[in-house]
Amino acid sequence: MRVLVLGAGQLARMMSLAGAPLNIEVFAYDVTTGNVVHPLTQQVMLKGLNTAITYADVITAEFEHIPHDILDTCANSGKLLPSAQAIKAGGDRRLEKSLLDNAGVANARYQIIATRADLDQAISTVGLPLVLKSSLGGYDGKGQWRLRPGDDLEAIWDEITQCLDQTSNQAIVAEAFVPFDREVSLVGVRAKDGTIAVYPLAENIHTNGVLSLSTALTDNPELQQQAEGMFRALAESLNYVGVLAIEFFDVGGTLLVNEIAPRVHNSGHWTQQGAETCQFENHLRAVSGLPLGSTALLRHTAMINILGEDTLPKALLAEPHCHIHWYGKEKRTGRKMGHINVCANSQAELKDALASIANYLDPASFPALR
Ligand code: ATP
Ligand code: MG
Ligand code: MG
Repeated sequence: MRVLVLGAGQLARMMSLAGAPLNIEVFAYDVTTGNVVHPLTQQVMLKGLNTAITYADVITAEFEHIPHDILDTCANSGKLLPSAQAIKAGGDRRLEKSLLDNAGVANARYQIIATRADLDQAISTVGLPLVLKSSLGGYDGKGQWRLRPGDDLEAIWDEITQCLDQTSNQAIVAEAFVPFDREVSLVGVRAKDGTIAVYPLAENIHTNGVLSLSTALTDNPELQQQAEGMFRALAESLNYVGVLAIEFFDVGGTLLVNEIAPRVHNSGHWTQQGAETCQFENHLRAVSGLPLGSTALLRHTAMINILGEDTLPKALLAEPHCHIHWYGKEKRTGRKMGHINVCANSQAELKDALASIANYLDPASFPALR
């Protein structure tokens, strides 16, 4: 089986690693260079998208911000999973919001705005504080503005106007600020025959807008059931095939969807060590038409993102139940360079393990652990 991944970053790399034991060959289309590369070595394997499409049995994606002409070309081959509709919804907050509404899944109140008059209307109908999000291209909290009572509306609108001018077909989703207790996410998978399997919810902590710590939750059957119901509604409404991640706000035990990611997700990396079958393998199984693997939790697990660092002390490898995954990327400030999965036999042991691992990391990147 040959799987072409649109995007050649760490998610394609980890799919490649997970596919090897199943004889699934993963290769990657680098959307920025137009090269078809090996996901581990980045060496050019094939010339051009069309050659890659012909060579592939299945085409999938590792990110949602893919030019629509490329998605449509892939969809026309009949090999793209999940569908172009699902991937487009993940990459455009307008489509995403209507998807959530149509599937009857709770999400923050919002209004789509494109003009100053629209913004005034959103302020009066949705109310302040508002979170303003560019509909296209946002990730890691980029392309967002907060508007609180008393803020300088003109200055913020100036910035937004620049963003609207930069990209054609751009708009802003003006969303009610949700006073959440915590953020959780559900990673699940739907097979071609409609079978669904979900992992335990993960609790997520962000540092400067970037995910820094994800911990698998072990004792929240009610929350898990809520999340699973919403997963089912969304995945079935899209006739989805593959791994789908849903980010939620937990407000007093009630979940509101923040956003979806039509792909394997950073908050599911812990499954590499903490679950019977990892998210990367399950995604490949789903899109290849194979039976899904068990998503059962094996042990208490958390994941720490390595942000902006490309080396760590060797002694870290001697920490018990500590698993380092580097992505082989060039170092840049704040960039996701790798992650560490930490396993333990109890929540208390996990907390201790995280505390001792934090000693090896740049405190600026990991205030979540302090
Ligand atoms: P990602 O890297 O997860 O794709 P993103 O750039 O797409 O992030 P969001 O997940 O929409 O952005 O928002 C980033 C963070 O901002 C959220 O994790 C949450 O902490 C906060 N946030 C977003 N929307 C709201 C809201 N309506 N109310 C309160 N906080 C919010
Ligand atoms: Mg996002
Ligand atoms: Mg998010």
